[in-house]
Amino acid sequence: MNTTHASPSSAADRYGAEPATLIRLRDVEKSFAQGHSRFYALRRVSLDVPQGEFLTIMGPSGAGKSTLLHMLGMHDSGWTGEYWFLEHEVHRLDPKARARVRNAHIGFVFQSYHLLDDLTVYENLEVPLSYRDVKKSARSGIVCDVLDRFQIVGKKDLYPRQLSGGQQQLVAVARAVVASPKLILADEPTGNLHSEQAREIMELFKELNAGGTTIIQVTHSDVNASYSRRVLTLKDGWIQAEPTTPG
Ligand code: ADP
Repeated sequence: MNTTHASPSSAADRYGAEPATLIRLRDVEKSFAQGHSRFYALRRVSLDVPQGEFLTIMGPSGAGKSTLLHMLGMHDSGWTGEYWFLEHEVHRLDPKARARVRNAHIGFVFQSYHLLDDLTVYENLEVPLSYRDVKKSARSGIVCDVLDRFQIVGKKDLYPRQLSGGQQQLVAVARAVVASPKLILADEPTGNLHSEQAREIMELFKELNAGGTTIIQVTHSDVNASYSRRVLTLKDGWIQAEPTTPG
């Protein structure tokens, strides 16, 4: 990938210089009614994520990983506790205001790509920019730049079904970064890919993180986790211990 971001050392410098906190969670809980009691998917989750972080969330199935990722992505409102994202008090925002913060700052990558089947690669990449109110005339320059960076210019008029799984995920990552988000949330981003394709996606994340983008990924893969700076383990909705450094 031909990246126009800052040099890899800049993120490390920022890290060393105690960068600003991007995310601060305090006592976040999410529960579901279960008969006469409640089932807790997240228990008193408190977490600080500095800007420039590359964090992995691991844990057994049902531990609350996806719940936490969706909550961080502001897709979910049925939780209690406090959530600051930069200067925004997310716990106080209504759904519309949350959507504005999300569209301005967060890109998503899912296991099953979630590209829009009826849109071409080019059109898929335009979607996040339309949410951001980027004018049509300005969009093409931004989309063409990302197509170029991800070396997928030749695929721009194809539909997702005409691409391999690895290519679709490449487009999904391109779509996640097209609006220059501060944060990328990835849920098992290589779960459907062969190891070589998975490596390509993880190398891409590494480069984006080196350029300053904060990344939080959920994965079962130790190889994927080794790309991150910290690993946080969840079990039964609880953070197990302080996040550790992988490897
Ligand atoms: P993970 O991603 O770690 O596999 P999830 O975050 O998907 O786990 O789920 C955490 C727990 O919350 C699971 O036990 C799951 O069954 C439960 N859960 C998730 N969504 C709902 C729901 N809508 N109603 C009831 N329980 C739910």
